[in-house]
Amino acid sequence: MEKGKQLYEGKAKKVYATDDPALYIVSYKDDATAFNGEKKGTIAGKGVVNNTMSNIVFALIEEAGVPTHLVKQLDDRDTLVKAVTIFPLEVIIRNVAAGSFSKRYGIEEGSSLLKSTLEFSLKNDDLGDPLINDDHVIAIGLATEDELAVIKKYAHTVNEVMSKFFLDKGLKLIDFKIEFGKLADGAIVLADEVSPDTCRLWDVTTNEKMDKDRFRRDLGNVEETYQAVLARVKGA
Ligand code: UDP
Repeated sequence: MEKGKQLYEGKAKKVYATDDPALYIVSYKDDATAFNGEKKGTIAGKGVVNNTMSNIVFALIEEAGVPTHLVKQLDDRDTLVKAVTIFPLEVIIRNVAAGSFSKRYGIEEGSSLLKSTLEFSLKNDDLGDPLINDDHVIAIGLATEDELAVIKKYAHTVNEVMSKFFLDKGLKLIDFKIEFGKLADGAIVLADEVSPDTCRLWDVTTNEKMDKDRFRRDLGNVEETYQAVLARVKGA
């Protein structure tokens, strides 16, 4: 399958058309941004890590009964995916307090939560991706009530599958962001990616941060950490 016209360039990926209108090619870049694009940089090798890791995890999620956009990995950086219309929502699940949750509610980072929490942010850089609740999503017409119920059910399944998988690799899944899309027939599928860019992963024994917080917070060893996460995910 050949890349056609570039349809979109995001912060970390490009999306290309193919000669089949139902299929796109996603190409992962090494570019990194944080704080709504205020901090910019490059993480050498990140595109390869995120592409490979995302596809390994998506295959597991698919096995657990949550459909995904994954068709097949084409090479180190490129993956063939089903064409979807993305819901403009960041679906975030948290198992442990961190990041904006800790800041917003004044809860120390690392405090375990008594319940896994799901929250939505509106994907809109100009507005700074504001938090949005279920009623707002439906009222604005971003998703129907039925679609929202499916998205939430899928997101909790994704959390269960990933929490177990990462723990087996010595990584605690603190929180993550996923995105869903809709196929031409209306079916909802997991899209976008699952990677150290989109998950907080802490070493289970040392609590060392093994994710994009190393870049966001200038903690050092950014490239090495992405490689280490991929090695663990691959089971090496
Ligand atoms: N996240 C993401 N993209 C975003 C915002 C958040 O992938 O635009 C991920 C982030 O990596 C973390 C989780 O979602 O795993 C929760 O992030 P949080 O709301 O705490 O925001 P942050 O502290 O990253 O600004």
